[in-house]
Amino acid sequence: MSAVLIDGKKIAEEIRSELAGKVSALRTAGVVPGLAVILVGENPASVSYVTAKEKACEEIGIQSFETRFPENVAESVLLEKIAACNRDPKVHGILVQLPLPRHIDERRVIGAIDPSKDVDGFTPINLGRMLLEEPCYIPCTPLGIIELLKRSGVPTNGARAVVVGRSNIVGKPLANLLIRKSVNATVTVCHTGTRDLAAHVKEADIVIACAGKPGLVSIDMIKPGACIIDVGVNRVPDPTKKKGYRLCGDVDFEEASKVAGWITPVPGGVGPMTITMLLSNTIDAAARISDIALQ
Ligand code: NAP
Repeated sequence: MSAVLIDGKKIAEEIRSELAGKVSALRTAGVVPGLAVILVGENPASVSYVTAKEKACEEIGIQSFETRFPENVAESVLLEKIAACNRDPKVHGILVQLPLPRHIDERRVIGAIDPSKDVDGFTPINLGRMLLEEPCYIPCTPLGIIELLKRSGVPTNGARAVVVGRSNIVGKPLANLLIRKSVNATVTVCHTGTRDLAAHVKEADIVIACAGKPGLVSIDMIKPGACIIDVGVNRVPDPTKKKGYRLCGDVDFEEASKVAGWITPVPGGVGPMTITMLLSNTIDAAARISDIALQ
């Protein structure tokens, strides 16, 4: 069997062209959607994520306001910046790039974001609302994965889904979205305490690998015809590359594509969808805050 490639870049482009219409409707009504981007330190992965997010904003007509702080910034300075963004009428969404340095209490910083501007969906208010299926901002990576499944025609109703990873930003919210009636999967969440990962993955119609461990999901673990969504982004040393490394996911892509029914590549799978959902949430925030109904 040769898997259908789920082209996240292409699907993301389709969604972005739909979103462009919403941005122009907002602009016509005198509202320029604005995203405040806060970056602490110079972690190369964080810098590249922020750069990609800002480029995507610019392309679609969202204004981004970047603030960079040095690694040793005081938590109080970050909290003041967030309070200023909460008050700023030009800012509709606030993004604090994670992870933050160890001396900063990530929960306190995220918790300081006004939930109506929390376009990453990381505040306790939005996560609680998500659980209750109330209007809210849903974390971008899980939201993007559900959209990928829908737009690729992967059957989810009654499907067995295995999520490998239980982080607050990917695994936990994703498991929650998968059990919504509108998706209707039966979900198992695996983690480092799982006794026999392979046995769980083998049962799955949909496998979502979000552990950040290259090669964690191998061909022998995959049920023929299963859908494999690879969230992992890992830098592995590669002297043949100019940068000295290459990116790979948590799944052995070459081998897994021989048995899977669908598969996402890394890069070019989940990543572009994460950014697109950030754009979508920011546009929604601009509309809600400005009390404009979008089609
Ligand atoms: P994280 O906070 O480090 O969480 C990793 C999760 O995987 C944890 O729950 C951990 O279990 C579990 N895990 C680790 N090793 C495992 C193993 N051997 N077997 C089973 N479970 C294992 O990471 P994250 O922030 O969720 O990110 C996960 C990966 O996705 C990373 O590679 C990250 O770069 C990538 N990512 C990609 C995007 C994108 O847009 N493409 C967005 C976000 C994240 P415990 O809880 O037991 O420790």
